[in-house]
Amino acid sequence: DAHRTPDYLSGLNPEQREAVETLDGPVLVLAGAGTGKTRVLTTRIAHILSLGRAYPSQILAVTFTNKAAREMKERIGLLVGGAVEGMPWLGTFHSIGVKLLRRHAELVGLRSDFTILDTDDVVRLIKQIIQAEGLDDKRWPAKQFAGMIDTWKNKALDPAQIPEGDARAFANGKGRELYAAYQNRLKTLNACDFGDLLLHPIRILRTNPDILKDYHQKFRYILVDEYQDTNTAQYMWLRLLAQRSGRRPISPLEGEMPGRAEGGIPSDAGARTPPSVGSADISPSRGEIGSGTVNICCVGDDDQSIYGWRGAEVDNILRFEKDFPGAKVIKLERNYRSTAHILGAAGHLIAHNEGRLGKTLFTDRHDPEDGKVVVHAAWDSEEEARAVGETIESLQRPDRNGKRHNLNDMAILVRASFQMREFEDRFVTLGLNYRVIGGPRFYERLEIRDAMAYFRMVCQPADDLAFERIVNTPKRGLGDTTIRNLHDYARARDIPMLAAASDIVETDELKPKARKALFDVVADFKRWSALLETTPHTELAEQILDESGYTAMWQNDKSAEAPGRLENLKELIRSMEQFESMRGFLEHVSLVMDAETNENLDAVSIMTLHSAKGLEFETVFLPGWEEGLFPHQRALDEGGRAGLEEERRLAYVGLTRAKRNCHIWFVSNRRIHGLWQSTMPSRFLDELPENHVEVAETEQSYGGYGRGGYGQSRFDKQEPFQNAYATPGWRRAQQNKTDATRDNWGSRSGHAVERIGYGESGPRARTIEGE
Ligand code: ATP
Ligand code: MG
Repeated sequence: DAHRTPDYLSGLNPEQREAVETLDGPVLVLAGAGTGKTRVLTTRIAHILSLGRAYPSQILAVTFTNKAAREMKERIGLLVGGAVEGMPWLGTFHSIGVKLLRRHAELVGLRSDFTILDTDDVVRLIKQIIQAEGLDDKRWPAKQFAGMIDTWKNKALDPAQIPEGDARAFANGKGRELYAAYQNRLKTLNACDFGDLLLHPIRILRTNPDILKDYHQKFRYILVDEYQDTNTAQYMWLRLLAQRSGRRPISPLEGEMPGRAEGGIPSDAGARTPPSVGSADISPSRGEIGSGTVNICCVGDDDQSIYGWRGAEVDNILRFEKDFPGAKVIKLERNYRSTAHILGAAGHLIAHNEGRLGKTLFTDRHDPEDGKVVVHAAWDSEEEARAVGETIESLQRPDRNGKRHNLNDMAILVRASFQMREFEDRFVTLGLNYRVIGGPRFYERLEIRDAMAYFRMVCQPADDLAFERIVNTPKRGLGDTTIRNLHDYARARDIPMLAAASDIVETDELKPKARKALFDVVADFKRWSALLETTPHTELAEQILDESGYTAMWQNDKSAEAPGRLENLKELIRSMEQFESMRGFLEHVSLVMDAETNENLDAVSIMTLHSAKGLEFETVFLPGWEEGLFPHQRALDEGGRAGLEEERRLAYVGLTRAKRNCHIWFVSNRRIHGLWQSTMPSRFLDELPENHVEVAETEQSYGGYGRGGYGQSRFDKQEPFQNAYATPGWRRAQQNKTDATRDNWGSRSGHAVERIGYGESGPRARTIEGE
């Protein structure tokens, strides 16, 4: 029989193969990093396709990032030998959600051309709502409330369902009203936020058994990667699509949903009130018997659950066997990615967590050439960046076997995005190519956001947030009073602001100058909208920026940034070329694709640990292993022990990204928000096993600053590593050192030196990784 084994199966180990070939019934693959979970998923899809068990369009596959989706599609193509036609349902939860929602938008009171708001828009909208309620938005910050809404949405809670305590906690108990008002406002704007991309589809599927049935028939196979990081809403969505029996699921999930409104506030005050998402009395699939078995396959690793702060529920793994009875659970134990040293270090570290499911990992790879994990010390973050840069340059030179490392094979994984800048600066100086993945992006720049607001208005004239952003940019003499008039007028009639503007210019309500200016704006938008279907979209985009005076505004700007901004605008138009329409482009951007880097360039990757999930690199640099930064102070303050354990999982994710080399750095001084702070090595360093780790001999001079306390440090070359671990351990020694150097540093530089406290710089400033 062996000669009939397709190529793509022959490289798998028996457990992997079982996971690929068990096509009927639920399958859960629970396994550690680098054991081939993602590879199993990819091969499984290839297998389904080559057996003809489903068409590409009948497979629903969820990945964690858009990039992962693209890669998976490519690999499937390679495995089945030829490009895969379509795979329209392979993507992130959000990209699949938006597709579902566009098809059925009217069922939740939206039109199919709805806008997806980004975090910034959401905050501005909430601010307006808070002000409209007559509340002080300084006392009740919109940003905070946006965070609360996000949390509720991750748990699939409608306004009526939010916990009493939460509702009371904000704006003197107005939390529910505000949330409901926000949802109404979104509907008026024909918009939704990221949470809605899942919640609306859940509503639709729950209340329209016919539609649900169609999808049950359509999706023959469901596959989910990084399953440990699904949140409650994602889980509900998956379960709806996957469960076919008429029986209600036996799951604690429903019980946790507060099913009824407590305050009697309607969940959604509109006429077309969709039922609550978690409403317990709606059985979506009652009476519906699908094809019987549910062919869902989820893969995950509880040790890599790192999105708890964003509502991910690692318990979903435990729930799987309950919700999908008869599930086959497969464990993979052989790691194909990393050296024994890297695995040993990661395994020893993660063993400090309690409450793990517990997994074994081994590797067959025992190459005496493999180096240990290296811990480096640096004086401050600037020196850290310099040293990392030097290491990278030395790796680029041929080693004694003549092997040179590509920059593409190296990554710097930071705990907080503020750490990136120093590396970027250094690499620019060195002329080293780098790419930032998942960081502040091109599309988030001011001029790009302005330009996009124009485009949004043209495609979707009800987009008030876009309108407000650009109505007086460039300056047209439309002051705050005019805008407020317009706003009131629009609100009173519940119409979009552009429509209001179109009305109001026919009246005497505005002063002549403002009236004329507004008249022109209205006329502009009418003209551009009319061109939308006929003019090529890049041409139209350019025309809009010219005719609106936006380009001229930057041309006349004398500031140092202006030329760069004009360049960015050009780049924006260029980037539109690869899309068929302006709408298509806008959708791409609102999904915050991580595609804008040139994949062909040989470049070092810089990204947060969070966005490194699932990836692998020959060499990994892990800077900033200091108390307060990693583990992050906020995680400790807010999460206590659970917070610490999530940080440790993050460290585990970081270490296990490395195939061959792993370099950890910590510094003694770090500048945060312009303040120098003296730091201590991370406790995670204490938790690394001696036999797999070595301390780098420091060639760096520390000289510019004088050796200070460093002369006595156990990081001094002479001192063997063991002593570092002998009592009193890393921290005590480092404490002595920092106490000495702090005075030294403080007095020499005049900088304020404070004990650590990272304030707002943490990763919780929400960037939507890979969505
Ligand atoms: P993570 O938990 O980090 O997401 P993973 O379990 O998804 O890891 P993969 O990324 O699928 O692991 O695989 C890790 C590496 O091991 C990849 O380079 C993959 O190609 C390789 N690999 C997996 N299975 C095999 C195999 N049977 N033979 C050879 N290489 C393999
Ligand atoms: Mg993976």
